[in-house]
Amino acid sequence: MNYDRVYNFSAGPAMMPEPVLEEIRDEMMNYRGSGMCVMEMSHRSAVFQKIVDEAEADLRELMGIPDNYKVLFIQGGATLQFAAIPWNLMKNGKAVYIETGAWSKKAIAEAKKYGEVIVAASSKDKNYSYIPDCSDLDIPDDTDYVYICENETIHGVTWQKLPNTKGHVLVSDQSSMFLSKPCNVKDYGLIYAGVQKNVGPAGMSIVIIREDLIREDLDPKMPIYMRYDTHAKNGSMYNTPNCWDIYCCGKVFKYLKSIGGLEEMQRRNIEKAKILYDFLDSSKMFKGTVVPEVRSLMNVPFVTESAELDAEVVKATKAAGYDNLKGHKSVGGLRASIYNAMPKEGVEALVEFLKKFEAEHK
Ligand SMILES: *Cc1c(COP(=O)(O)O)cnc(C)c1O
Repeated sequence: MNYDRVYNFSAGPAMMPEPVLEEIRDEMMNYRGSGMCVMEMSHRSAVFQKIVDEAEADLRELMGIPDNYKVLFIQGGATLQFAAIPWNLMKNGKAVYIETGAWSKKAIAEAKKYGEVIVAASSKDKNYSYIPDCSDLDIPDDTDYVYICENETIHGVTWQKLPNTKGHVLVSDQSSMFLSKPCNVKDYGLIYAGVQKNVGPAGMSIVIIREDLIREDLDPKMPIYMRYDTHAKNGSMYNTPNCWDIYCCGKVFKYLKSIGGLEEMQRRNIEKAKILYDFLDSSKMFKGTVVPEVRSLMNVPFVTESAELDAEVVKATKAAGYDNLKGHKSVGGLRASIYNAMPKEGVEALVEFLKKFEAEHK
């Protein structure tokens, strides 16, 4: 069916798979004979419990999440987790952070309010266009965790090899790469993601945490909603969860399973990103801003020779049905976010358009 939709290159909230949106549409007025929409449903009902249970089970299957990890659905975006992580995990009051772009920077600022933050490596010197060597970091013994942002949504860099934490707990912000490729959960103590980049609607984060990291001896002043033990003990339903988001994300998990899981998703993402990067590498007008080795498969920042021309491209692409290509206000230029739900055809069409634009503006 033709809905007159555009190719939406937004960094988030972003595209969702069309078959998922159609299923949601079909169940909108009456979810499977319940006589109501999931939006109207009690979170304590058996119908909804099944939705949550299936969502968790499907996510566990997709990622191969071991039994000693909890899956938590927590309201609020990834930004809430910037604070929740230090409050929950800092036992000795000390953590190592790696600064690779705008999002790790924000996490650092938030963690500093709670404890000691050691920035053990940074790529600030070259405007976050690379990932620093983290094979032999100076990590104090009493460090509670090592923190990375695994894909920097704004700067377009992604970790190819995880840092050597020297036995310390690894915490990763996977917001803009969650479910884009297989993940060895055992390598991490905590993985989290705001879901509006690569999964569902805005308003929720998924936290995957190793059970032994969930503490009860926390600062008594800590808000109950920020405590991981609150969510773990209550199956993410201490209070009303984001029911709608859990429902939509659950559909996306089933969709990913149906196409062949995360290995197939990764294959498609590599193929898709290559089309765009190959073009940028061959173009005289457009240039990628990230060193090739750590280019993100999800967020592709690029520039022309001037801010004026950048703006002209953004305008022309929007008029042609390629929306949200303006780079983040902090870095300028252009950025194409090509998450899981962006079809290969969308990237091919964009590249054709940019080629034509270049030919016409020599
Ligand atoms: C978008 C984003 C965030 C912030 O997410 P909110 O849900 O807006 O709080 C954090 N980290 C990364 C990597 C992001 O892409």
